[in-house]
Parts: sequence; structure tokens; C-alpha cells
Amino acid sequence: MIICIDFDGTCVTHEFPKVGKDIGAVPVLKRLVESGHEIFLFTMRSNRPISNPTGDETIQDVTGMFVENAVTWFKENGIPLLGINENPTQKNWTISPKAYGHLYIDDSALGCPIKEVHLTTNGDKTTKYVDWVKVERILECMNILPHTTKSSSSTKINLKLSDLQSNLQKYSEIDKELERAEKKHPNFPIDMFRQLAVMQEEAGEVTKAVLHYHYENGTLEHVKEELIQTAAMCMRMLQSLSVL
Ligand SMILES: [Mg+2]
Repeated sequence: MIICIDFDGTCVTHEFPKVGKDIGAVPVLKRLVESGHEIFLFTMRSNRPISNPTGDETIQDVTGMFVENAVTWFKENGIPLLGINENPTQKNWTISPKAYGHLYIDDSALGCPIKEVHLTTNGDKTTKYVDWVKVERILECMNILPHTTKSSSSTKINLKLSDLQSNLQKYSEIDKELERAEKKHPNFPIDMFRQLAVMQEEAGEVTKAVLHYHYENGTLEHVKEELIQTAAMCMRMLQSLSVL
């Protein structure tokens, strides 16, 4: 898959004309390359060796080798690039100036997960950039990256499971069940109605276990098992909601 990646606010914090700070893009971009995908730099940066009025007061007249600085960032982080702002192969079949890719990751794109960080303690100055924890999770949900337990554990941190100190025993049982389910069925549906069907199927098992306990010779242990499985499915739904 050819993946077009924006630079400022996407690979690093917005600090143009400087190269911004690390925001966690490197390990995910490396995983994409390791999984056989090709990265393509798609940026508004250009090399601007000579000062020239921009014609727009919101855009500074700055000089520098801005695109080269971005390319150096990729080189220094060991991420090979297929191209810069133009796909060399597309000239054979189109004159369109749009760079050809199968997927675009850009902080300006609709739906791209964004993290907002306060730069001042009173919160009046903030910066926004791509949330790579969520991007990694989405890429896994879309089967563009192989599934790992690493990103699901970071999602669990977001859900503050660790804050739930009381009933720790019960939560760890749900956690274990969630891990077991993720391993057994790595491709959890993205569609919420299908997710609901999976969760409701487990909830139906709880009903069955409760009826069995009350009217036949069922055990409380079985009711508990089914509740844990249902709770794990609820957690799975919550996790996939948190990436939207
Ligand atoms: Mg950007």
C-alpha cells in the first residue's frame, strides 16, 4: 500500500520553519515499512532559498531548505521514502497534480485522530497534532498493520482500568478474558451493529446461565463466567469507540 504522509502536525509538532518535536510517529511509520507498505512524503514544505513576498500576510516570507529538513528527519529516523510530493510512477498514466496514494495521513484530514496539548498552565494556548496511539489502533483495525497487544494495552490505559483499584480481582479477570478474546478473534468488527451482535450474544449467555441457576441445577460460577465474557465484549466495544 502506498501511504501519503503529511509532515508538520503529523510526523512532528507544528513548528514550521523549524522541524517540530517527536509525537510518536516514528515507531508506527517503521511498523508500516516493516509490514511492506511504502511511505510517501506529502507536504506543503518546499525549499525556499531566496526571499520572495508571499502575497499572504498570514504566511511568512522565510528562506531555507524546508523540504530537505523534513527528508533528513525521515533519514535520521531510518524511514525510507518512496517519493516527495509527487509519485514518480503516476506520470505514465495521469497528468493530475495530486500525488497518488492508497491512504493519506494528515492532521488536516477529516477523521484523523488529533491530540490537543496545553502549552500554558492556564490552558489558553494549545497545540494540536496527530494522535499516533489511535492511528496505530485504526491501522490495526483496518488490517493495514498486524494486531499487537501493545496498542490494546495503551488503549486500556486511556480507559483508566488501572484507576479501578477496588474489585481489582474482577477487573483482572475481565482483562484476561479480553486478551483471550483478542487472540482468538483478532478481527473485531468495525461496524457498531456487528459489535453489538457479538456483545448481545454474550449477554444472551448470561440470561441463559441465570435461568439455569434459578430453575435448574446451574451454578453461580457459570453466571460469573458469562458476565465476565460479556464485560470483556463491552470493553472491546469501548476500545473501538475510543479510536473514533
Ligand atoms: Mg500538517
